[in-house]
Amino acid sequence: MKIYIDGKYYGEKDAKISVFDHGLLYGDGVFEGIRAYNGRVFRLAEHIDRLFYSAKAILLDIPLSHGDMMRAVVDTCRRNKLRDGYIRLIVTRGIGSLGLNPYRCKKPSVIVIADKIQLYPVEMYKRGLDIITVPTTRNLHSALNPAIKSLNYLNNILAKIEAINGGCEEAVMLNSEGFVAECTGDNLFITKGGQLMTPPLSAGALYGITRGVVMDLARDNGLTVTEPNLTRYDLFNADECFLTGTGAEIIPVVKIDGRVIGKGKPGPNTLRLVEQYKALTKVSGEPIYP
Ligand code: PMP
Repeated sequence: MKIYIDGKYYGEKDAKISVFDHGLLYGDGVFEGIRAYNGRVFRLAEHIDRLFYSAKAILLDIPLSHGDMMRAVVDTCRRNKLRDGYIRLIVTRGIGSLGLNPYRCKKPSVIVIADKIQLYPVEMYKRGLDIITVPTTRNLHSALNPAIKSLNYLNNILAKIEAINGGCEEAVMLNSEGFVAECTGDNLFITKGGQLMTPPLSAGALYGITRGVVMDLARDNGLTVTEPNLTRYDLFNADECFLTGTGAEIIPVVKIDGRVIGKGKPGPNTLRLVEQYKALTKVSGEPIYP
């Protein structure tokens, strides 16, 4: 595997960053998880846009242009002969001193890793997930806005630990007001009647790229798409529930906190969206081998 670091490619063993990089010392940096399907990078421009928005929010100057960043991702895929896989794009604050001051870090580092991913076993996509609400709430906007996809994922990791310790693969995270925000690495959706609902960004959800694609597909299917504040009660009484994310794609949820959702199996709207999403990923995206 060839890993891109600041314009050069390194083998897996030689791909290293400094122990003084503030990405490591403080989780000071931003990242993206991107997917390649059938020789194309899916929704690449949107991922790069979000990376730049995250960087702007933390006053991090990405040393590449939008276009150069897209090229770095596509080139890394090509070098690794990737057709289907997962790309991790990271921008760290760079090398600084043993103190918080980010202005001591003179040059941010850009890293691109093109690899594979399988978030959940295939069986879970067929059966649907059993998830639980966990005690750790989503970060406050006023502290660390959940819209920033930063290298500081401890909030999500704590919730993930609580889910796994509770015997589940994923966690529903509430915000400090008790409304549903999202899961640890995925956005959450429910359907009720002809409506598709997902928490608004103001509830503490990430502006998920898959979330956006699914909302567009659902509108095309004639569903009304809304972003209301949702409570656990709304989840328990939904017809269908599913999660979305670049890594997870669309995964059905059939149980939440011991309550069976709908008929206890992946519902028709979910299954239709899964098929449509799959079809879309096969034909759309930035070509790796033009
Ligand atoms: N929420 C969180 C916290 C995430 O980390 C992610 C990405 N894994 C998502 C939602 C889904 O976003 P996307 O569809 O852009 O991958």
